[in-house]
Amino acid sequence: MKYQLVHPDSGEVIASGVVERIGDHDASVEHTQNGDTQNFSGAITNHREALQRALHLFDECGTDLRTSDLLAVGHRVVHGGKSFSEPVLVSDEVIAEVDRLSSLAPLHNPVNLIGIEAIRELLPDVPAVCVFDTAFFHDLPSHSATYAIDHEVAERHNIRRYGFHGTSHEYVSGAAAEFLDRDPADVNLIVLHLGNGASASAVRGGRAVDTSMGLTPLEGLVMGTRSGDIDPAIVMYLRRVADMDVDAIDTMLNKSSGLKGLCGENDFRTITSMVDDGDEAATLAYDVYIHRLRRYIGAYLVDLGRVDAIVFTAGVGENAPTVRRDGLANLERFGIVVDDDANAARSRDARRISTGDSEIAVLVIPTNEELAIARKAAALVR
Ligand code: ADP
Repeated sequence: MKYQLVHPDSGEVIASGVVERIGDHDASVEHTQNGDTQNFSGAITNHREALQRALHLFDECGTDLRTSDLLAVGHRVVHGGKSFSEPVLVSDEVIAEVDRLSSLAPLHNPVNLIGIEAIRELLPDVPAVCVFDTAFFHDLPSHSATYAIDHEVAERHNIRRYGFHGTSHEYVSGAAAEFLDRDPADVNLIVLHLGNGASASAVRGGRAVDTSMGLTPLEGLVMGTRSGDIDPAIVMYLRRVADMDVDAIDTMLNKSSGLKGLCGENDFRTITSMVDDGDEAATLAYDVYIHRLRRYIGAYLVDLGRVDAIVFTAGVGENAPTVRRDGLANLERFGIVVDDDANAARSRDARRISTGDSEIAVLVIPTNEELAIARKAAALVR
């Protein structure tokens, strides 16, 4: 669980924290406020207790969130289904709908609800807002939102491509237009959000026209532990031939596939040094990752026709120069030329890493989902 106390206008981070290993006896909280870091370690049984711990650490640092003039609490909610295209104030109806959507995001929405209900109880006077990870992709053109399966089955079970990481794709698209000093309505972008989860999007004039994630966050790029695109027949084949049940296949594709499935590691720093040491499995994992990434870049170049910039963001996108170099190697004929020195330079700021004569700009733009959520929540409450 990650949280921030952030000023929505200035972006100033007053406090931030992360709770790890929730459900374990050796869970931990690291809370930083006004430059000081407080730690807790011990048992934390569930997400409700994690939130209580966090509020307690705010208290200990001299901020009682119950009496401070907190404008809103913004919750990141993974699946908004067809119902939510915009942030909404938390109400009984919204909670019921987020709960109903749990069947589409069984790993995420139930946990999001625990957080929403705990905050309702712990901070009853502060307005709470749900910001949906799917919202930016709610209005995808129907040709990219539709799976070519029996349309009656799809309709009955709400099967379509929803897309995820929307808050990040939207924030980064806006920041890229600002960086280029262009009106967002005139800018076409390919956004590559490469973290532990990874997704690509094609954005035309500030609106998403395609994205790599689908009904769930499993589709698309190779990720830390998720397979991304596979032949769907693999699922039936494993069911019939390997006698794996649906839950076992689900767990394999989500938790022990992707980079981890191929080389046993999902942290890109470890994989990069394994590749440098000549590890064969890590090299194959890296090559499969880059191959898939290039496929999506190619698809979106064609999809958009005119592209102004390709934007890298999130943990891997912001910090792994080899991924940016190899993902865009030998694309000069498509107007994409990465400047090796600019690419290799370390920085936390938004930056251009393409050469001056690269027709398509290549940018690294740090994502900031917390600030994006805070701004959306503040805008709605105000
Ligand atoms: P998420 O929010 O999806 O958990 P992040 O955006 O925080 O993910 O990204 C996590 C990934 O970023 C990890 O695979 C991590 O190895 C990678 N990463 C972080 N720093 C670096 C770095 N300096 N070099 C390469 N990869 C990095």
